[in-house]
Amino acid sequence: MKSLMMNQALSITSIMEFAEKNHASQEIVSLTGNDQIHRFSYAQTFARVRQLANALTALGVKQSDRIATLAWNDHRHFELYYAVSCMGAICHTVNPRLFEEQITYIVGHAEDSCLFFDLDFVPLVESLKDKMPSVKKFIILCSEDEMPETSIEEAVCYETIINAEAEEFDWPELDENTASSLCYTSGTTGNPKGVLYSHRSNVLHSYAAALPDAINLSSVDAVLPVVPMFHANAWGLNYSVPMVGAKFVMPGSKAGDPPMLTKLINEEKVTATAGVPTVWLALLQYLEESKQTLSSLQRAVVGGSACPPAIMDDFLDNHGIETIHAWGMTELSPLGTLFSPKAGYDTLSKEDQDAVKAKQGRAMYGMNIKITDDSNQELPWDGKSFGSLKAKGGWVCDGYYKLDTPRDPDGWFETGDIATIDKDGYMNIVDRDKDVIKSGGEWISSIELENVAQKHESIQEVAVIGVNDTQWGERPIFVVVLKDPANASEKIKQEILDFMTGKVAKWWIPERVEFVDSIPHTATGKISKLDLRKRFS
Ligand code: AMP
Repeated sequence: MKSLMMNQALSITSIMEFAEKNHASQEIVSLTGNDQIHRFSYAQTFARVRQLANALTALGVKQSDRIATLAWNDHRHFELYYAVSCMGAICHTVNPRLFEEQITYIVGHAEDSCLFFDLDFVPLVESLKDKMPSVKKFIILCSEDEMPETSIEEAVCYETIINAEAEEFDWPELDENTASSLCYTSGTTGNPKGVLYSHRSNVLHSYAAALPDAINLSSVDAVLPVVPMFHANAWGLNYSVPMVGAKFVMPGSKAGDPPMLTKLINEEKVTATAGVPTVWLALLQYLEESKQTLSSLQRAVVGGSACPPAIMDDFLDNHGIETIHAWGMTELSPLGTLFSPKAGYDTLSKEDQDAVKAKQGRAMYGMNIKITDDSNQELPWDGKSFGSLKAKGGWVCDGYYKLDTPRDPDGWFETGDIATIDKDGYMNIVDRDKDVIKSGGEWISSIELENVAQKHESIQEVAVIGVNDTQWGERPIFVVVLKDPANASEKIKQEILDFMTGKVAKWWIPERVEFVDSIPHTATGKISKLDLRKRFS
C-alpha cells in the first residue's frame, strides 16, 4: 500500500530556502583577499545567489552544464555552490593544489564550460587557458575595483555580472537524484576520477553530519571550515551548516595561516571547525608559542589522515577542545565514520578512552561499513581481524563520472583502506591497499614517483612507500635496489633525489632513500608494499 505522506524532494534548494526563511539574519562571514572581514546575512547571501543564477543564465548556462571553480573558502565560492546546483547545473570544484596537467585533465574530462576563479589563480588560469578548450567563459571572483590586468581577454568580473541582475529567480523543481556537484579525487591510481554527487546524497550526508554523535551542529554554533571547499564540499559543511542555521565563518586563502585562524576563531566566536592534522599541528604550535588560546572553540573535526594522539591531547589538555577523529573519502561525500563516545565511555580508564579516540570512529545511520578477507568473506567485528574496508549507503559513490568502473556484485564500494572494526563498531585504519600516499592532506602517486626514479641509471628496481611523519602525516621514501650494490653511498642517494627535481612536483620528492638487496614481491608479482612498510615505518 502506498503511503499518504508528502514527497518533498531532498534538494540543496530546500536547504537554501529553509535557511533563508528560518535563519535570515544568521551571518556568513569571510576573510577576503585584503584580510578584510566580509559579513552578510543568509538573507543577503541567498538574494545574491538568485542574482548569480540570473547571471549564469545570461552566460548561457543550462541544466547539467559543468561549472568549474578554482577558489578558496569564501562567500563568493559559497554562492556558486548554491546558484549552480540549485539551477540544475553541476558545481565542479577544482583543487588548485593539483599539478597543472591534472587541472587541465580534470577540466577537459568534465567538459567545464565556465570557470570561476579567485584573483590568486589569475596567473595559473592565464598559463592554462589554451589547454582548456571546453571553457568558454572566465569569471574572476573579485569586485570591480579589484579587476586585474590579464591576458585572458574574455575575463569578466564576478561582481559586475551579478550586480546587473534581479534578485528574483524561479528555481526549477529538480528530481532529488539530479547531479548537483562534481569533485575529482586523485587518491586512486591513474588519472583523477570524478565523483558526481546528487542533491539527495548531499542532503542525506548533511543530516547525518549534523547528528549529535557526528559533528553535533545546531543554530547556536559558529562553524569554520579549515578544510577547503574543493575537498569534498568542505566535508559537507557547505550544506550542513545552513541546514541547521549556524553561523558560517570562512578563512579565505588563510586556512594555513595560524595567526589569522586564531584571530578569526576568537573574534567570530567559532565553536566548531574541521581540517586535516597538518593544519592543527601548525595551529597548536603557534598557540603554544604565542601563549594564546581558543576560548570559544568546543570541538575540532580532524580527518583526511590519521590524527596523532598528541594533537588530541594538546587540544584537550591545553585548550579544553574535544577532537572528533573522522574518516572519510571524496567518494563518501566525504564522511564515513566519526568518533563519539558510547554509554560507559566515562567509566573507562584514560588509557582505554585514548585507545578508542585514536580509532577512526563509528558509522552513523545511513552509512554501512564492513571488512572482508581476500575471498570477499565478511570478517568479524572483534577489533583484531583486519581486511578490506567497504562502504555502502545513500551518500556513497556508485561509479566514477564517464568511467566504466567494475562494480562489486553486492553494491559495496571498495575504499582501498585496510581496517579492523571492534564490537562497538569503532573502525580503525591499519593500512592502505592503494598505491598513493597522503602528505599534508594531498595525494602523492607512488607509481608516478617509481616510474620517474626507475629511469635513473644506477637503479635496478625501486619502490615508493609512505611512512609516518609527525608534520605531514605521511612522507614518501625510496626503497632502492642498485644495479651495482658496491655503489651504495650518501652521494648516490643525493644523486637520485636530485634526479627527481623538475620531473615531479617539489613536494612529492622524498627526503629519504633506503638501499636493499631485493624488493619483496607478492604471488602475483606486485611489489609487497605491506612488507616494506612494516620494515621501514
Ligand atoms: P580523500 O578522498 O582525498 O579524502 O582521501 C580518502 C582517504 O584518506 C581514505 O581512503 C584514507 O586512506 C585516508 N583517510 C581519510 N581519513 C583518514 C583518517 N582519519 N585516518 C586515516 N586515513 C584517513
